Amino acid sequence: MKKIIFVSHCILNTASKVVLYNQREIDAEEALRLKFVSTALNNGIQIVQLPCPEFTLYGSRRWGHVSNQFDNPFFRQHSRKILEPFIQQLKEYLSNDSFQVLGIVGIDGSPSCGVDYTCEADWYGSFEGRHGLQETLDSARLVNRKGIFMDVLTEMLKEEHLDDKVTVRSLYAGEPDKCLDLVR
Ligand code: SF4
Repeated sequence: MKKIIFVSHCILNTASKVVLYNQREIDAEEALRLKFVSTALNNGIQIVQLPCPEFTLYGSRRWGHVSNQFDNPFFRQHSRKILEPFIQQLKEYLSNDSFQVLGIVGIDGSPSCGVDYTCEADWYGSFEGRHGLQETLDSARLVNRKGIFMDVLTEMLKEEHLDDKVTVRSLYAGEPDKCLDLVR
């Protein structure tokens, strides 16, 4: 039986990520990413790469965002559109006893792909001439909620009655076992 796992796009392609500057966070996530991917490959697990909703809307020069900015009908519709072919692939694998779907792995902290944690703040508007910009930027916080892409994915799993059949976890350096337990 072939084991299959679906992962957020940047677990296989970090070039899709927003440009980051916190080297400590980058190193911690990268160490876990390498461990997760190598464990999966060494255990013969097949990896399906989900599309990146941010890269496919805003490209490589995008700013970092918070989830509030993506919680709108347009971002949700884009997420649904690019997820549809992957829900179909998931259904096909689940319908065939030759395959075992181990789950879906997102990226905690992301405004899009967070599963247990996403980032939240009341961010909007231009930077130019703005008072209190630093306070606005500093107001971003991690909250126990899904990012918008993962929220849409969860809705689609429910619509297809797959939510009981598919485990959704996340890659998060602070809680490494959440993703590693799926591929060990
Ligand atoms: S939107 Fe998701 S897949 Fe794209 S870079 Fe962010 S966490 Fe990775």
